Amino acid sequence: GSVWGQLPQAPPDPILAVGDAWRQDSDVRKLNLGVGAYRTEEGKPLVLNVVRKAEAALLHDPTLNKEYLPITGDPVFCKLARELALGGDCPAIQQGRVSTVQALSGTGSLRVGAELLATHYKPSRVVLIPKPSWPTHRNIFTKAGMQVQEYRYFEPKSRGLDFQVRLCSHLGEPQRGAVVILHVCVMQVIDPGFLLLAILDVVQSRRLLPFFDSAYQGFASGDLKADAASLRMFANATAPDGGPQELMLAQSFAKNMGLYGERVGALSIISNPLPKTWACKACGRTVHHQQVSLPIHSTVPLPKTWACVASAWAHCALSSSWCDELAGMANSIKAMRSSLTQALRRAGVPGDWSFIEKQIGMFTYTGLTRPQCERLTGKHHVYLTMDGRISMAGLNARGAEYLAGAIVEVIA
Ligand code: PLP
Repeated sequence: GSVWGQLPQAPPDPILAVGDAWRQDSDVRKLNLGVGAYRTEEGKPLVLNVVRKAEAALLHDPTLNKEYLPITGDPVFCKLARELALGGDCPAIQQGRVSTVQALSGTGSLRVGAELLATHYKPSRVVLIPKPSWPTHRNIFTKAGMQVQEYRYFEPKSRGLDFQVRLCSHLGEPQRGAVVILHVCVMQVIDPGFLLLAILDVVQSRRLLPFFDSAYQGFASGDLKADAASLRMFANATAPDGGPQELMLAQSFAKNMGLYGERVGALSIISNPLPKTWACKACGRTVHHQQVSLPIHSTVPLPKTWACVASAWAHCALSSSWCDELAGMANSIKAMRSSLTQALRRAGVPGDWSFIEKQIGMFTYTGLTRPQCERLTGKHHVYLTMDGRISMAGLNARGAEYLAGAIVEVIA
């Protein structure tokens, strides 16, 4: 027999499995609303012009070579990535308190961060992840050896933020020092507005360590800076001990640069001033301030696809056209929110569905129950995750009309 004879079947990935099932469906009306990937009106993947231009320029750049990258990745890419998130004038950056490493998109950045926490973070083993959220958070942190707990923030009736009952009480419960995962567009689909200050207050009063997941910067408002406001507010805050607020940040450029499969991302750590060097507790080697690459050491190979990103950002003309293209994608998703709302009204949906236009970003949490979601898939060929989340980017005018009819049928 094979040495692999006892290999157990891997559990299906909750999002990729939705796409696989969609591919196998031959019905022409089928919709894939599982994966968060932008699509054109014709339902086709989109490569941004800015990426095409940068790639063309790189092809003829005689200074490029195929050497290995430094262990922490490309320094130009890392600098541009953190400035994009925090702003070039961020005091933490200017004071040299931000360490950035290149990582394999958002997932890889979270994974490196999770390992860093599991190995070196002493105050707590607990990581609080939002519910509902991206299902992979749980796996990443559990695999790294952290204990995952959930905090709720979603009010199923209004499909909005339940600040007092859920969010505050759930964040107030865990042990001091636990890590809390926050989406940069804070609740992924909900803008907490003025409540952000109160969230910072709860986080600080429990001495939680915020770990921001930035997978959609630019997709909520169409503006990179506006979407980073929550992160920047935390990064510029004073901690209860009078020092600067510390935090972690995982960035993905999958969505906002349309580089999904290229795996471009970065992990940054904003800390109080660190000693210039110290001995790594895991391996005894001397570690330099700029190398919070501890868990990477030599285990994670880095692709060089950063080059097209760095080059796109480095050319101002290109980077402003990137912002235009990003705003275009965000606006078409906003337009899809109103198309779906109107289609639901025309289809005679009962109840208040105005939350679709109030939610932000690429997704909508519909509040549909698991049996309703199963019926959407089984009877109507609409593929979505069973928590009722739909990717607005997977819809076009015809799809919105069809989905509205299907929703009306499943809730009847
Ligand atoms: N975080 C969230 C909330 C996401 O939705 C995703 C992808 O869908 C990611 C992180 C990471 O994506 P990637 O690893 O493709 O950058």
